[in-house]
Amino acid sequence: MARIVMKFGGTSVADLDRIRNVAVRVKREVDAGHQVAVVVSAMSGTTNQLVKWCQELSPLHDAREYDVVVATGEQVTVGLTAIALQAIGVEARSWQGWQIPIVTDHAHGKARVDRIEGDELIRRMEQGQVPVVAGFQGIEPGRNRITTLGRGGSDLSAVALAAALKADRCDIYTDVDGIYTTDPRIVPRARKLDRISYEEMLELASVGAKVLQTRSVELAMKARVRVQVLSSFEDKPGSLVVDEDEIMEKPIVSGIAYSRDEAKVTLRRVPDRPGVAARIFGPLSDANVNVDMIVQNIGEDGNTDMTFTVNRADLPRAQDILEKAKAELNYGALIADPDVTKISVVGIGMRTHAGVASTMFKALSEKGINIQVISTSEIKVSVLVAADYTELAVRALHTAYGLDAP
Ligand code: ASP
Ligand code: MG
Repeated sequence: MARIVMKFGGTSVADLDRIRNVAVRVKREVDAGHQVAVVVSAMSGTTNQLVKWCQELSPLHDAREYDVVVATGEQVTVGLTAIALQAIGVEARSWQGWQIPIVTDHAHGKARVDRIEGDELIRRMEQGQVPVVAGFQGIEPGRNRITTLGRGGSDLSAVALAAALKADRCDIYTDVDGIYTTDPRIVPRARKLDRISYEEMLELASVGAKVLQTRSVELAMKARVRVQVLSSFEDKPGSLVVDEDEIMEKPIVSGIAYSRDEAKVTLRRVPDRPGVAARIFGPLSDANVNVDMIVQNIGEDGNTDMTFTVNRADLPRAQDILEKAKAELNYGALIADPDVTKISVVGIGMRTHAGVASTMFKALSEKGINIQVISTSEIKVSVLVAADYTELAVRALHTAYGLDAP
């Protein structure tokens, strides 16, 4: 007998038939004698609509009220899933984030989970009840307000719950049947990976592989939660995210990811003095705007250009902050370009192999694709290119690293 957290994404609960399908899958595990807790997302499309409403009313809306709005999607699906389970004879009840509680910090819109009170859920699971937990939601105890964990946050809810409940496995059911070398919609010859290390998955997720939310992988790695990604529509083995030691042959490049959610900001003619980077990036980080790639050009006549990328959704906020600080920062011009894509190649074998970056640059130059910004980490090389070249670049790289399926 195992204890399993089963998480179902938005497409898996998109309508009543699919919710019935979820209930059947849960019942199968319960009938096999396992203790099961379920985590669900909102119906697909719902959260996008809720976010859009907030943005349409005001691009710089109050993040606390945003959370009140976007947390509603999961309230609907937990209730429906509990009803569907009860209808086929499975004892179940719904739980919203605040009822458990899933306690978070106060970073509304992308809160971090501080702790989860798991005892009551464990007690009920031991008695045969299936808790159906709302993904994405938490509560911030200081002001007693609802928080959400950032887009795709139900994955984080599931992993955090698996850790709190000391589950043997966290199964993430989704509309793809595993983790691929790259997006199969762009590269039909992408291959499914049986296993991938936490670290690679973390890098891939952080650069746009949408299968798992980045922070969920971070937590899985830290808490050593075994994660399985599998299809909620087909009975096929999925991909396992595990410790590096469980992977025999370390590939130089395991996968290629891309992110269209980037925007490039350039500050022209910034005075080249100590402290200027701190004065630019301090206020952005205070406003919870994540800055990713950064390049500072060589100074000329005491001035320099500073280019960096932010999440595209944060671009209005970043522009607002920098425009307000124009006099203080004393820069010449602010140029924002939302039409960029970041493409990354990832592999743990990079630690011990040279030439990964040069293969990338060569493959892109052969297709005439200009590289705007480059960044690297121990197991990753990323480039920023014009959004129009996304597909071409991903395909060229998949071939260049020998990842195409035969
Ligand atoms: N419904 C939330 C979102 O779309 C959380 C999730 O689905 O993981 O971001
Ligand atoms: Mg998701």
